[in-house]
Amino acid sequence: MIAEIISVGTELLMGQVLNTDAQYMARELAPAGVNVYHQVTVGDNPERLKDTLKTALGRADVVILSGGLGPTGDDLTKLVVADLLGLPMVRSPEAEQELYLRFSSFRNREMTPNNLRQADFPQGSTLLPNPNGTAQGCFVEQNGKTIVLLPGPPRELFPMFHDYVMPHLLKRAGHRLYTREIRIFGMGESSVEHAIRDLIEKQDNPTIAPYAKTGEVTLRVTARCQEEKEGELLVAPVVEEIESRLGDVVYSTNGESMPELLSRLMIEKNATLAVAESCTGGLLSSTFIDVPGSSTYFLEGMVVYSDSAKIRRLNVSNTILRQNGAVSAECAKEMAAGMCRTSGADYALATTGIAGPGGAKANKPVGLVYVALAGGDKVLVKKLNLTGDRKRVREMATLNALDMLRRLLMDLPQAE
Ligand code: ATP
Ligand code: MG
Repeated sequence: MIAEIISVGTELLMGQVLNTDAQYMARELAPAGVNVYHQVTVGDNPERLKDTLKTALGRADVVILSGGLGPTGDDLTKLVVADLLGLPMVRSPEAEQELYLRFSSFRNREMTPNNLRQADFPQGSTLLPNPNGTAQGCFVEQNGKTIVLLPGPPRELFPMFHDYVMPHLLKRAGHRLYTREIRIFGMGESSVEHAIRDLIEKQDNPTIAPYAKTGEVTLRVTARCQEEKEGELLVAPVVEEIESRLGDVVYSTNGESMPELLSRLMIEKNATLAVAESCTGGLLSSTFIDVPGSSTYFLEGMVVYSDSAKIRRLNVSNTILRQNGAVSAECAKEMAAGMCRTSGADYALATTGIAGPGGAKANKPVGLVYVALAGGDKVLVKKLNLTGDRKRVREMATLNALDMLRRLLMDLPQAE
């Protein structure tokens, strides 16, 4: 099946708004085996839109249009589609009812006659509900071709596309999708891609799609199949191959997040945890507590920001603070050991560092962070040289602390 995406909006052409709708849809369509050979962006101009649509219908089975469904004069997508297909515009009583209902729930938005245009659709359309806005989408079928019209705002388009358009296209194509996610910490996106380049290049079924966010890379492995069992048979060998190439930077292949994994391991081991935080300021504790059930193993977290708090609460030695400073391996180790002692927890994590933008010293740049982990009678410490703004330094320090604990609990060597 061949699909074409037409993004409608002068603001897209002018570069005022980034075309995230097309990116989102293309990313969903690829693993479904729907080929997208063309994406076109066109302004709010009826003649040029009509031309674009005509061309698309000549070379694709499914044409997906986004934007221009609103009530204003420049919203003309539906009219152009109706005109080209030779269909009259018909008011949908259900859509009209829905509009009246929506507007009665808005306190300060009066319904004007042009709003009712949002209840008009090319004759024979199947309407798509829009729980996030007033513009409903629709499908129009003609001569074996499907035209899909969707609202422009991403928060309206993404769920509508996911909930209605993808299932329709999968049904039409006669298959379903089965996906597994490989989650990676401690290896950058380009290194990951390099290590599996040949797999990505020859991918067909399953497909492999990388996604990166702060510090983490996720690979989504997706198979087209008739049923789940067949999907797993297709996906499993690829997941295994990737895991064996990347090694222990892979922390999950079943969708479990790092905090969920740690929570499970801590509970399985019947162990307890406490946290002492300087530069992460509560973020690390909060990351553990985000996972339901954390009360089983998480005893306490402390934000020990000043030198005097480190001394008073955790018994960090005055000498270390004077000679090595609060941002030092020695201080981090004393914080973790002190936290273990005072809380009675089996393990304690500690963070201390310079999150920036100020606070750098000659031998201590912004982004220098020490993370320590105490447990048994050992204290491990890791030095990080992080880049980025204050938020990123704190997030990366948190992720590295989580990974240290993961490696200890799973008997893996600590990362360099
Ligand atoms: P509305 O009912 O809000 O008017 P609409 O279907 O008429 O919806 P447009 O008027 O084309 O949509 O666009 C509304 C807004 O949605 C734009 O200002 C823009 O911020 C966003 N938008 C439109 N198209 C895209 C796109 N392709 N990618 C990302 N954002 C978009
Ligand atoms: Mg609009």
